[in-house]
Amino acid sequence: MTLVDLPAPSLPAPADVAAFAGPGAAPGWQDEVRALAQQRNAIVLAHNYVLPEIQDVADHVGDSLALSRLAASTEASTIVFCGVHFMAETAKLLSPGRTVLVPTAAAGCSLADTIDAPALRGWKAEHPDAYVVAYVNTSAAVKAEADICCTSSNAVDIVAVAPRDRPLLFLPDAFLGAHVKRLTGREDMHIWLGECHVHAGISPTDVRKQVAAYPDAELLIHPECGCATSALWLTGTGDLPAERTHILSTGGMAALAPRLTGATALVATEVGMLHQLARANSRTTFLPMNPKASCRYMKMSTPQLLLRCLREGRDEVTVPDDVAVPARRAVQKMIAVGAPGGGE
Ligand code: SF4
Repeated sequence: MTLVDLPAPSLPAPADVAAFAGPGAAPGWQDEVRALAQQRNAIVLAHNYVLPEIQDVADHVGDSLALSRLAASTEASTIVFCGVHFMAETAKLLSPGRTVLVPTAAAGCSLADTIDAPALRGWKAEHPDAYVVAYVNTSAAVKAEADICCTSSNAVDIVAVAPRDRPLLFLPDAFLGAHVKRLTGREDMHIWLGECHVHAGISPTDVRKQVAAYPDAELLIHPECGCATSALWLTGTGDLPAERTHILSTGGMAALAPRLTGATALVATEVGMLHQLARANSRTTFLPMNPKASCRYMKMSTPQLLLRCLREGRDEVTVPDDVAVPARRAVQKMIAVGAPGGGE
């Protein structure tokens, strides 16, 4: 089995999202969010890709795994995760005793939806001895079928310590898989041909065009992007400046941003990331490699739905024990290997 024949994700189309979110939030909604969070003893976490106004009202902003680990160490009894569903599931895996809420359970992920547990079981049956590495952008049910998880920043380390006497199955992101295969030289690595429609849409043509327009810019490229593999190749051929090309997770971009000194940086990932980068460094202008790279699922965490979530205690995210136990094991095994930062 290679490319998936699964149906396209049945999630609301962009036009549906505004109607879904209900009437606009009243002025001062941020104060209400803070008051409701206090009443619920809740911590509000926001992924780097959500709307800027949600990032600004949250207690913490970051990448998926950093937020899940933060959730595991909080004293709050409720975690409100503004992001997409699999991220909130990961927070639930690492914080089984806490209530985990999302502004809407309909916020899915086109990458995570390229593989489900039955499809993975079928792929494993074709490679019965294989060691399975699952990127954290997967459902808990898929993680439960994996030997270990990885993030975009530790995927190379995870594959490097994988058993060498077993073939490897890497899923679901084909661009990240190609990047890891190239860096580790694991020729026995089979890669699921999944992709995120947002990252895949950032093409080598976008990179060439923007680099021509801003020849002195630093390049910050997420390894899930359609341009990442060719960007690595172009640095090898000298077409892109190797010293200014950084292949980074969103957490890695946030860490690098304050240290940049150039006038411009071109960013190849979802456009929500630009808000955090601009906050981290006002000297550098951060520009998108492709301004259309916006994830509609991430933008479903609206002020209205965040307020509904805090007022009504919905939507709650749960993971059944028979899935949570093996899925948690795969995530914790990754954390034990080290370099656990990152994720999308
Ligand atoms: S940007 Fe892509 S990988 Fe991230 S949540 Fe959206 S669809 Fe999924």
